[in-house]
Amino acid sequence: MKGIKLLAISVFSAAFLSFTPENKKIIIIDAGHGGNDMGANRDGIYEKDVVLNIAKEIREFNNVQDKYEVILTRDNDTYLQLADRSTLINKLNPEIVVSLHMNSSPHQESVRFGKEVYTQSTEASKKLAQQISQKLNPCEISGEKNLHILRESKAPTVLVELGFMNNTEDREYLTSKKGQKEIAQKFIEVFNEY
Ligand SMILES: [Zn+2]
Repeated sequence: MKGIKLLAISVFSAAFLSFTPENKKIIIIDAGHGGNDMGANRDGIYEKDVVLNIAKEIREFNNVQDKYEVILTRDNDTYLQLADRSTLINKLNPEIVVSLHMNSSPHQESVRFGKEVYTQSTEASKKLAQQISQKLNPCEISGEKNLHILRESKAPTVLVELGFMNNTEDREYLTSKKGQKEIAQKFIEVFNEY
């Protein structure tokens, strides 16, 4: 009996001692859509998958750095209600939040292409948009938009449209490993300079 008790105590203290508190600040990457909500699509390519892949690349690149912990609102193909996303965000109290999406237009082939970023009404959100816009250059700052995540998230948040699903060049770039890694790397640079 005594032996078991001692063992329990030593297991407990070993677990306690090996626990090092995470002092890293949190950045949340929100991969848009998921599950039955596919987002934009073309030729069997879905926005939900493209943005998830890029979100995971960002998390992976960030793993080797000490400054921030990157947390994804979803890291698999499930749908998370918008309200659950913003509740999670506000509970984790991150430094910044970046929501990733792709644009599409009603045309078969979009003449519009490229990236744009939407902001909250706060200065911090606009500053973050400016930094992202400079890094992802060209990336248009399209101003404030009344979207759930921008409205409800208390942390500085931006929503980035990474390109047009129905623009061939954008789609091919964003579905390539090279393109996904390049974009992820640029977000890491933004975070490090933030
Ligand atoms: Zn979207």
